[in-house]
Amino acid sequence: MFNAKAYSAASATSPLASTTIPRRDATERDVQIEILFCGICHSDLHSVRNEWSSLMPTVYPIVPGHEIVGRVTKVGSAVTKFKAGDLVGVGCLVDSDHTCPSCRDGLEQFCPNQTLTFNSPDRHLGGVTYGGYSESIVVDESFVLRVPSNLNLAGVAPLLCAGITTYSPIRHWGVTKGKKVGIVGLGGLGHMGVKFARAFGAHVVVFTTSPKKKEDALRLGAHEVVISSNPEEMKEHAGSFDFILDTIAADHDINAYIHLLGRDGNLTLVGAPEKHLAVSAFALLLGRRSLSGSLIGGIAETQEMLDFCGAHNITADVEVIPIQKVNEAYERLLKSDVKYRFSIDMASLKSEP
Ligand code: NAP
Ligand code: ZN
Repeated sequence: MFNAKAYSAASATSPLASTTIPRRDATERDVQIEILFCGICHSDLHSVRNEWSSLMPTVYPIVPGHEIVGRVTKVGSAVTKFKAGDLVGVGCLVDSDHTCPSCRDGLEQFCPNQTLTFNSPDRHLGGVTYGGYSESIVVDESFVLRVPSNLNLAGVAPLLCAGITTYSPIRHWGVTKGKKVGIVGLGGLGHMGVKFARAFGAHVVVFTTSPKKKEDALRLGAHEVVISSNPEEMKEHAGSFDFILDTIAADHDINAYIHLLGRDGNLTLVGAPEKHLAVSAFALLLGRRSLSGSLIGGIAETQEMLDFCGAHNITADVEVIPIQKVNEAYERLLKSDVKYRFSIDMASLKSEP
């Protein structure tokens, strides 16, 4: 076991602050990674503030962070895929049982015995797992991803969650040329959804509550932008979408978007607001529309997404911050003021005691 510098929160109302945490010594199947960048996902904020208490109560102190990019510093004797010096990524998962039907299908995100990167029982050290707001992490090689060498690393980190969470449903629901696709919410997930839907050839419409994001939405790849608070603009698109991806992190009227689907259209929720959303039966009945959810993606699909990003030169648009600005970044997330993902430069941890 060794100590690593990190940032943690002591309670749902405490700010994140400097600390040290234990990391295990690499076992034979482990990869030890020096973390270079870690994205800030809205899920980090939901967890730190215990907003998902009924499903996943937060154990304190919590070290969040599941959009990790770094360099391998050490590998265990049985590791075959990586060597010291390799650039790698780690997302939301660090372990699973490898044997259940979901794992056998490459859908480790649905494994009942999975280990999440933070706030999950740690089967090596006891207690809970600690995430990527840290200088290092030790992970079983089967949950470590290869990072394409041509991409900006600060912008790669968010691909490990925001990237795969939008890529997976866009692939699953067959987004291609000729399809009309809506992306609701232009934050970390939403801006990646725009990039992927565009890369797969769809006609992309962004729905935003922030009129000042309109130009950015077009620059990121949207063909049209709708200000969702304007009923006239919303009405123009009624019954016209093949697929809508809802990334909103807060309470909202989901029926307003279901009504925009055409016959057999699908709305997939990836946003995970604290409160239940009320769904109108008729919004679904009319037009045989469907509503579904999606959770990150499996390891093989995450690698596929990273390779796709390498081939198409896709990264997140990031605002790089030192770890000392993390609490300010959380406040800005709550105001939908992110362009379009915060990526923490972990070199900034070196100045902490
Ligand atoms: P984010 O960067 O904060 O973006 C969320 C966006 O939602 C905001 O930028 C804003 O966009 C819109 N929004 C916020 N409050 C709103 C409100 N009251 N009404 C309407 N729109 C609102 O968050 P994120 O990191 O992309 O995460 C989004 C959600 O996805 C979170 O709940 C997160 O926990 C969840 N998530 C789920 C998965 C999964 O596997 N399913 C993975 C990662 C994250 P505009 O300014 O454009 O309106
Ligand atoms: Zn996330």
